[in-house]
Amino acid sequence: MSVKQLLENKSGEIFSVPKTAKLREAIAVLNAQNIGVVLITDSAGKLAGILSERDIIRRSLLQETGFRDECVEKSMTTNVLTVTSTASVDDVMEVMTNSRIRHVPVMDGDDIKGLISIGDVVKRKIADAEHEAAAMRDYITTG
Ligand code: AMP
Repeated sequence: MSVKQLLENKSGEIFSVPKTAKLREAIAVLNAQNIGVVLITDSAGKLAGILSERDIIRRSLLQETGFRDECVEKSMTTNVLTVTSTASVDDVMEVMTNSRIRHVPVMDGDDIKGLISIGDVVKRKIADAEHEAAAMRDYITTG
């Protein structure tokens, strides 16, 4: 299955904040939406970085007080690993496994098409396995 098909089957909202936003605004989005990362955009609305819960933990250890009032730019990862919408779910899984990350944005050129989380990938894999098992059962019982 392609990433494009996977995105079609999940809610399309992509949560992002501008890189000039305060870290506390990004934390509020993560908390309100119950998500693990927000995408960070530049003044043109293009992808500038990604901010995960882990980045916030790291930042809080580097600077114990006042870090929430700094720009998200100071805490985000700028070298964002992405896939295109023609990539397969297995391609995404490989990126996640090799780089030990749980989120991969889907980009077609400069356009942000969506975000795949490790939860989306696991859900898809379980559905595929169940589908395969049902087909095997069917094959065995009906001959
Ligand atoms: P995660 O496991 O996705 O919560 O993120 C763990 C670390 O990897 C954090 O420092 C993130 O900023 C970073 N990270 C998450 N997703 C990506 C990505 N697609 N490309 C590069 N870094 C990422």
